[in-house]
Amino acid sequence: MSANERLLLALTELAARDKATPCQGRRSARWTSDSHDDLEWASWHCSSMSCPVLEECGAAADEDHIKHFVWGGRIRSPKPRSAA
Ligand code: SF4
Repeated sequence: MSANERLLLALTELAARDKATPCQGRRSARWTSDSHDDLEWASWHCSSMSCPVLEECGAAADEDHIKHFVWGGRIRSPKPRSAA
């Protein structure tokens, strides 16, 4: 089973128990924000809110070489260059 299939299965099981991940809440846009501060906030919340699919989410992002936003508690977007 691929990492993406494991993530889909974990999310399906979670939904069946009427549960959601932290990034499915009303502040979900912060996980896909262009603001690095938002992404820092989101990555911290993946862990601090004990996302039940954290490991599967990170593995799926690694499998697909995702280079944007927050997955598995990690910021995948490149760090912004600091102003000179
Ligand atoms: S680990 Fe993945 S599924 Fe869980 S809150 Fe973070 S981004 Fe969302």
